[in-house]
Amino acid sequence: MEKKNTIEEKAKVAKVDKIFRLRTGIVIDHIPAFKSFEVVELLGLDHPGEGNAVMAIGVNLKSKKHTAKDVIKVENMRICKEEINKISMIAPRATVSMIRDHKIKDKIRVKIPDVVEGLLKCPNHNCVTNFEPVKTKFHHNSGQMKCHFCEKSFNLTEMKLL
Ligand SMILES: [Zn+2]
Repeated sequence: MEKKNTIEEKAKVAKVDKIFRLRTGIVIDHIPAFKSFEVVELLGLDHPGEGNAVMAIGVNLKSKKHTAKDVIKVENMRICKEEINKISMIAPRATVSMIRDHKIKDKIRVKIPDVVEGLLKCPNHNCVTNFEPVKTKFHHNSGQMKCHFCEKSFNLTEMKLL
């Protein structure tokens, strides 16, 4: 009985490769558990594009440190720095690996941009951005997002995407 449990435990320590082996594309790792769907939406991967890329999403994978995470793999996808930094709004600790011929060619840690435009909703109900068709703009400083319009500061964790 005990032995069986150990095997089950080992199976839970899911490796990224268990989803599928990527020849060329990107791997977005260290997404908080169950947040991968938001990342998919943010990057527009929920709309079938011209490329019909194969995508795999691993949800609630147990890492070696016993913390749960999500992983997204997208075949043949290219991603620009701006898009990578967008991911930080949902997954501040995410990494993005570029895979070519089964090898990691580049690995980038997401970074919250100094200025975030048109992505986040201002939590201040009285803010002009919630009434007028203006593009929201926030200035980032150590996890605090300051609205350019109402000048109120919010923790990134309390912000919602537009
Ligand atoms: Zn505001």
